[in-house]
Amino acid sequence: MLPPQASHMGLTRCHICGMTCVNDRPGIGDLRCGRCRAPLHGVRADRIGASWALLLAALICYIPANVMPVMYTQLLGNGSESTILQGVAEFWRSGSYGIALVIFIASVVVPCTKFVTLGLLLVSAQRKTPWKRRERAVLYRLVEVVGYWSMLDVLVVAVVAALVKFRALGDVEPRVGILFFGAVVILTMLSAMQFDPRLNWSGEDS
Ligand SMILES: [Zn+2]
Repeated sequence: MLPPQASHMGLTRCHICGMTCVNDRPGIGDLRCGRCRAPLHGVRADRIGASWALLLAALICYIPANVMPVMYTQLLGNGSESTILQGVAEFWRSGSYGIALVIFIASVVVPCTKFVTLGLLLVSAQRKTPWKRRERAVLYRLVEVVGYWSMLDVLVVAVVAALVKFRALGDVEPRVGILFFGAVVILTMLSAMQFDPRLNWSGEDS
């Protein structure tokens, strides 16, 4: 059995000053902390909808991010626009396996893992299932940690552009696809922020 939760005992912790407050009016939205007057709230089950909406918006942005060109390169007079996967293939063919791998991980592996993980967390929180609570808690922390590194592909385009310009090899310019990549990163981070990890532990234990 799960140990009792603060809400079962009529207690709510203030997320600003940390004081444990007696929640004698459960369900009333304007309850405030007795010390710092910050609004008090328990587990935010009402944010699941917002989290889903942000995740779906990220999924939609992921399509143009992959279909539209992310950069324009002009080397020795020949100009061409390339999508992120064409860029990966180009780096791989030219022998820059490391850069190709980094871009592939940052632009395909990381976002897809985040989509699946967040979707899984949201579905299991909605169903209040006791299924693998501990593993789900680890998954949530993983999404948080990965969030800091997600701008990697945007950074790679910036670094490649700087390299090409420094060596005067030609010209590189970012294209609209990279904006959608940025949007995917921001939207998935916001979606993860809306998700209350305490939802993992709500519902009956088996
Ligand atoms: Zn407080």
